[in-house]
Amino acid sequence: MTERDFPLAGKRVFVAGHLGMVGSAITRVLRQRGCAVLTAPRPGVDLRRQEEVERWMRAERPDAVFLAAARVGGIWANHTRPAEFIYDNLAIQSAVIEGARRAGVGKLLFLGSSCIYPKLATQPIAEGELLTGPLEPTNEWYAVAKIAGIKLCQAYRRQYGCNYISLMPTNLYGPGDNFNLQSAHVIPALMHKMHKAKVSDGAEVVVWGSGAPRREFLHVDDLADAALHLMEVYSGEEQINVGTGRDLTIAELAQMIGEVTGFRGRLAYDRSKPDGTLRKCLDVTRMARLGWRAKIDLRSGLADTYRWFVGAEDALRMRAAGGR
Ligand code: GDP
Repeated sequence: MTERDFPLAGKRVFVAGHLGMVGSAITRVLRQRGCAVLTAPRPGVDLRRQEEVERWMRAERPDAVFLAAARVGGIWANHTRPAEFIYDNLAIQSAVIEGARRAGVGKLLFLGSSCIYPKLATQPIAEGELLTGPLEPTNEWYAVAKIAGIKLCQAYRRQYGCNYISLMPTNLYGPGDNFNLQSAHVIPALMHKMHKAKVSDGAEVVVWGSGAPRREFLHVDDLADAALHLMEVYSGEEQINVGTGRDLTIAELAQMIGEVTGFRGRLAYDRSKPDGTLRKCLDVTRMARLGWRAKIDLRSGLADTYRWFVGAEDALRMRAAGGR
């Protein structure tokens, strides 16, 4: 049994990025476990601004921080807005990590992404692959910032003795995801396109790339559960991978989303759009040794996400119809 050397129950916990998909899932689980959740007001505290973050954290004095705030987006958003992806992420993590040190925060968990690993890393990707080769160019802006975040935590641990740790999730999906077609990741993008096609009797949905790349997907509720677990049991320098350890092709994923949404038309592959890295699947042995495994299977996670999306769409439509 893994020992809980930092039990969260009863602690004051700052969730940076509480409005995002990951932050809101972590917030939900923390509240269920009896923690006092602190969130930075927006507008009021811009997480990219060191002074604003420090002032707020010194006043609030959290015991622990989940650093889930980030500029995130799919392959197209990274490709077209590189400056935002590198600057915003560097600024947010520097401000929050330094703010945590100055406010005397006992423990901080930094959330990264599996795209920190080299494009040609051995699959499934183990933690030791970090910085062993060139990155996938379509998201290197974001990846470089996230690698710097891991290094910040390691440096603060070595120089200041701060118990700051890093978690690298695989591709995430779930309620609260970004369904905007220009900036979404593949699951919300395909779900949105197939839903639109279904309700308007569209015959075809365009899938970007060749359909051949392989990806691994983790439901955000599983990720939140993993983040709390790691915060309670782990105090090491190396980043820890969190995923399911299972991947599938984009074509297989598209078919599964078709089944979940009830779209029965054709899938057309647009090869002018980038495939990105050919395979991305994490080795989750370390997390398993730390006593955690993913519980939500992809099909039921997709169904849950689709229910949420349809509900959110209906709410938006009703608000528009009501003039608000
Ligand atoms: P990545 O994992 O960082 O490459 O990010 P994405 O989730 O954006 O893309 C994953 C894979 O899905 C890539 O090979 C995309 O080309 C492919 N894909 C297929 N259709 C879509 C789509 O409509 N939107 C996005 N974002 N990706 C798509």
